This record gives sequence, C-alpha cells and structure tokens, in this order.
Amino acid sequence: MASHIVGYPRMGPKRELKFALESFWDKKSSAEDLQKVAADLRSSIWKQMSDAGIKYIPSNAFSYYDQVLDATSMLGAVPPRYGWSGGEIGFDTYFSMARGNASVPAMEMTKWFDTNYHFIVPELGPDVNFSYASHKAVDEYKEAKALGVNTVPVLIGPVSYLLLSKPAKGVEKTFSLLSLLPKILPIYKEVISELKAAGASWIQFDEPTLVLDLDSHKLQAFTAAYDDLESTLSGLNVLIETYFADLTAEAYKTLIGLKGVTAYGLDLVRGAQTLDLVKSNFPKGKFLFAGVVDGRNIWANDLAASLSTLKELEAVVGKENLVVSTSCSLLHTAVDLVNETKLDDEIKSWLAFAAQKVVEVNALAKALAGQKDEAFFSANAAAQASRKSSPRVTNEAVQKAAAALKGSDHRRATNVSARLDAQQKKLDLPILPTTTIGSFPQTLELRRVRREFKANKISEDDYIKAIKEEIKKVVDLQEELDIDVLVHGEPERNDMVEYFGEQLSGFAFTVNGWVQSYGSRCVKPPIIYGDVSRPKPMTVFWSSTAQSMTARPMKGMLTGPVTILNWSFVRNDQPRFETCYQIALAIKDEVEDLEKAGINVIQIDEAALREGLPLRKSEHAFYLKWAVHSFRITNCGVQDTTQIHTHMCYSNFNDIIHSIIDMDADVITIENSRSDEKLLSVFREGVKYGAGIGPGVYDIHSPRIPSTEEIADRINKMLAVLETNILWVNPDCGLKTRKYAEVKPALNNMVAAAKLLRTQL
Ligand code: GLN
Ligand code: ZN
Repeated sequence: MASHIVGYPRMGPKRELKFALESFWDKKSSAEDLQKVAADLRSSIWKQMSDAGIKYIPSNAFSYYDQVLDATSMLGAVPPRYGWSGGEIGFDTYFSMARGNASVPAMEMTKWFDTNYHFIVPELGPDVNFSYASHKAVDEYKEAKALGVNTVPVLIGPVSYLLLSKPAKGVEKTFSLLSLLPKILPIYKEVISELKAAGASWIQFDEPTLVLDLDSHKLQAFTAAYDDLESTLSGLNVLIETYFADLTAEAYKTLIGLKGVTAYGLDLVRGAQTLDLVKSNFPKGKFLFAGVVDGRNIWANDLAASLSTLKELEAVVGKENLVVSTSCSLLHTAVDLVNETKLDDEIKSWLAFAAQKVVEVNALAKALAGQKDEAFFSANAAAQASRKSSPRVTNEAVQKAAAALKGSDHRRATNVSARLDAQQKKLDLPILPTTTIGSFPQTLELRRVRREFKANKISEDDYIKAIKEEIKKVVDLQEELDIDVLVHGEPERNDMVEYFGEQLSGFAFTVNGWVQSYGSRCVKPPIIYGDVSRPKPMTVFWSSTAQSMTARPMKGMLTGPVTILNWSFVRNDQPRFETCYQIALAIKDEVEDLEKAGINVIQIDEAALREGLPLRKSEHAFYLKWAVHSFRITNCGVQDTTQIHTHMCYSNFNDIIHSIIDMDADVITIENSRSDEKLLSVFREGVKYGAGIGPGVYDIHSPRIPSTEEIADRINKMLAVLETNILWVNPDCGLKTRKYAEVKPALNNMVAAAKLLRTQL
C-alpha cells in the first residue's frame, strides 16, 4: 500500500525562502546564497518525506516564485517586453516577469482557483515562439536522485496551462488559447524524454482545471493533448492530478478515458461526489491516488473516518492500485506544527500542518496494508473526541442564536432611499461627499508601539496615549484637508482580520503558521476552532475617542463576517455558513454598541466577499445567499439615521452585482481605478438601486500622486453614468501601505477635485 504527496510548501518552516529571496532582491546576498537556501529546503523536504515512508515524493513542487511562472519559463513563453534573447532563463528574466524591473512592470497575477495563492498569468498570442528554456524540472529530479530519492516530477499539465493563460495584448477578443496546444506539446515531449533518460519512472501532470465547469470543446483538448503525448509517455507511469473539487460526470469520463495515463489523483475532501464517481466506474488496472488528507486547512485528519473511506475505495479499485494521498498540494496549509510555541497542547492535538499531514498520509497507507500504528491511531481518535466534546469549542447560547437565524431574512425595515434621506438630515453632507476607506499610513513607530505593547514592554496607559496621539494627528489632518466623513486611521490594528479575531472567542493564533500568498509574501490566517462570540466591545473605545475629537461624522470601522471567515482557517466540523452566522452575530453586537456610543456612520468591510465564491457555478447561489444574509444580519438592527457603508476590494463584480445590491448597504465603496469599464454595469445597477456609491477615484497601490484635473476628470466620467446625489469621492482602498508624503497631496487633490465639481453642478 503506497502513499503520495501532491506538493509541499516552499517557504520553509520559518519562511527561510522569503528572507533569502528578499535579501537577494535587495542585493544583500548573491544568487548562490539564494540557490543554497533553496537547495537546503528542497533536500530537507525530500528527506522528511522519505523518512516518513512516503513512496511517491514530488519534485519540481518547489518554486522560487510560482509554479505557473516556472511552466512559462520551461516553455520559453517570455513576453517580448522583458527583452529575453533566448537560452536558459535566468533569475533576471524570471524575476522581471514576476516583479517587474526598472523599465517594465510585472506580469499580471491572479488567484489560484479559490485559494489565497496567486499565480503569474501567462500571456500568450499567435506569435509566441515556444522553446525549451528552463530545465528546472529535470534538474530538480536529478538533484533529488543524487540525494538518493527517486521522485515523481510534477509539471503543470499542458491543457491547464493554456486554460489558465490569457491572450496577449491586441488579440484578446480573437485568439483561442487552446489553439496553441500543438505548439507547446513538443516542448513537453522534450521534457518528458529528458526525465525518462534521467531515470524517472513516474510523472505527475497537475490538471486542476478539470474540476471547473468545462464545455465539451475544452474537455476535448485534454483528450487531444494526451493522445499526442501517449507515445512519448510510454514506459512511464503517468498520474493526472486534480484537486479543489470533484469532477463533473463528463470531466470524469474524459479523465478516465485519457490515453497513456496510469493513475488519477482525486480530491476526496472537497469533492463531495468523488467517492460516488469512483464507485460508479473505475477502469481496471489503473491507480487511484485518493486525496483524503486535507491540504487546504490545518486540522488533524480524522484517521478512522479516512480509513473507512479508503476501505470502500479499495473494494472498487483493488488493494494494489490504491494510493493514499493529500487532497491537493500542501502549499495551502502551514508548514510545521513543531514551531508553534504559543498554542496550548489541547488545541495543538487538534491540528496538523504540512509536516504532520505527511505523517498522517503514511500512517493511513500502513494501516491499509495491515500495519496499523495503534498508538498513533488511538491518539488521533482521542484528539478527535476531545475536539468534539471540548467546552472551548461549543457554546450552547451561540449555537442556539445562530440556529435561530436560519430561514429568516434580516432586512432593515425602510428602503435605502428613505434611509438616505433620514441620514442626510442628520449628517448634512455636501454633494459628492469625500471620505477615505479607513487606514492611514502605518509608520515604523506605530508598528513598534503595537509590538512593544503586545510584548508587555510598554504599559497600557502609554499604549493608549500613543494611539490617541496618532488618531488626533489623523483627525486633524483630515479636518485640515476638509474631508467630510472622517476615519480614525486604524492605528491600533495590525491586520483587519487578526484585530477582530484576537478579541473574539473561538479564535486561535499561530506564531509560524504562514501560508504563501504570492512570491515571498505570506499570510498567517487565524484559526477558528470554536463557536464565535464577542466577550466585550472591540472598537467602541477607539471610535468614540476619535469622534470626540471632531464635530464631523467619524466612521466606525469594522471587518465583515464573510471577510473574517474567508481570511481564516475555518473549522471543518460544521458548515462554513454556520460559522459565518456566528461571526455575524458578534459583529452585530459591535455595530449596535457603536450606534449607542453616538457613531452615526459605520463601515463594515467585505473586502473578501467575492473570494469565497465556489469554483462551480452550481454552488454560487447558495454561497451568495448566506454570505449576503450574514452581512445584513450585522446591521439590520440599526436606526434609519445610522449610515452603513461597506467596502470591497477589486474583483470582478459583474456577475455578483445583484448580490452586492442585496447587501442593502447605504453606501458602497469599491476599488475601481484599474477597470473603470468593467464597473460600469455595477454603476448602472447602483443608479436603479439608489444607494450611495464610491468607486475609488485614484489608485492607492502606487506611490504616484494624481493631479486635481485627473481626479476631476475621473469623477466627471462617473457622473456621466451615475446620478450626482449618489456619488461619493474616495480613494480605492485603505492608505496603510502608503507614505504621508504621498497621502497628503493625493487627498488634497481629491478634495479639490470634489470641490471644483460641486461648483459646476
Ligand atoms: N478598512 C480597511 C483599510 O482601510 C480596508 C482594507 C481592505 O479593504 N483591504 O485598511
Ligand atoms: Zn480595499
């Protein structure tokens, strides 16, 4: 009975790769230094897996930046603007594509399926001259072999590569990416032949796009690609790896019909139908790589439950042909629980990071082979039982309150136009009111103060004093700039989710639970392990302190339940929507306390609402229904005169506009500066709906300072579509990452533009 790991985190247990990359980029260390750190990480991962007893160990799962960019390099598909002149692609060209250089910006980056990992989107047109330009896959295979580990080299499959690409500039409308298949397959063949020559006996093609809603034309491309590769692949065992969902019946049929393929990797955690698909039809003599250990979260596997699933599968595919695996690459989970010094033993016993998941996979494989490690299994069973019964997990009152929400609607009693009238009487704002999204620049000094307070190095009084001074500075600045609706600047927050998670019960925090987001950037999601409740107000003190400093309206600033959920590791012992409803109730209490404290404008950020959208269209409606419902729960209890804002970061809103309207916020601010056109339809719907809308009037992701004319011009363009009385004027997003030297003149010009237009209307 064998075991397999789909892929492994690259950053290292203490983010060694991050620091090596950043030091190299800053020219503080050499390419050799970076390569050394990377080689050490790879060898320790291979060693760890082989010591654990894993039979099929991946190579080429490592990447200096991103595995899709690695495939782009392998294929020599470098966009001409990077000036690459052929030969093996080196760090210069590679990192220019990833991060841009002095003269050329980076290639576009987008989310990898529904994870928080971002990949570099290949840009392909009819003129690309593909060539075999990065031997990384073969080099890493050989490197492992030299260390005594015979690995399974992993390549992104040719069809997924093309389906994840975008057409190059100029051919957007006309070009069919799949038409490039005959041009890239020859490169794949070169790589496959070299791997064979180097001694590989297995190869893994990741074809995760097979889990999406694909039409028959796209499915046909898989058949065509593997038909073409069949003779080159002969002599190798070929694994097609899928993950993140189950396959539709048609996609499954396509998969099991692929020529030259010996094994199928299927996700049994997220793939609700996977078990039934396999039971309904599994080709004789083929291997099933059964992904039963979840690569998307940090929970210890329920080994007994997995073992019984595996036994069901064994009855279908046969003992020799079943391989125990992870549901997807472990890239999406934290690295090693061993480095968690702050979590208590009880919570730790419920968790498994990548290193622990490797051990779980192997333990399951051994158990199937009749060598069950009884001690390991019973410790696991005890941990599962303690998680089920722990009073830290269950809070009856919260469970009851959340259950009572189901089925009801939770809407504010009055419609938005009437509410806006009532609010205007109270707030008395000019037309084209100006505001910002919340955070102001976070200086080093501010970070130091927060850090020292957390480490008990400064007293609470000193901390409060320092934060108050910062708020006063931000309030004074906004008054000086003559902004209409102020913010306190969020100086007390490290992160918009962590800040709330730390004050809510049911959340735990790691010290090293980092997950790669893109390149060297990592996030450390909170862990929601129990029923969520709010022991006491979380923001009221700071918001009312800020309000007391000004006669202008001060926005209370909250993170919404859907965003808190989507940016955390969520418990897997109840549906996501139940956890979301619980968070919504906690935020509702906060909203109502802010209102009682005299805060008349409250912004509830839902930056990550769209991120949680399921991969398959058939599941969209259900998600959007509970997500939007959760948002409405937070504020359905406020008076008409309390103005509820929400903010959403850039995403494709077109397909979810009705859900955004259904959130029933009074004012919606949206990141916009990168795509005016796309948002046009959103604006139009907004007109019908009547809520205030603030499409960002300048891009905060760049240090560039927009001129008054430029901003006025933008507002004018928006006014061509939107009614004057609903338009708000604000930047794109929070100003946390900018410097005051940029923020002051930019906001000054923004206010000047609004004032200029007011005189013209
Ligand atoms: N209020 C948050 C801020 O200004 C919003 C950030 C976000 O949307 N990502 O930082
Ligand atoms: Zn934003």
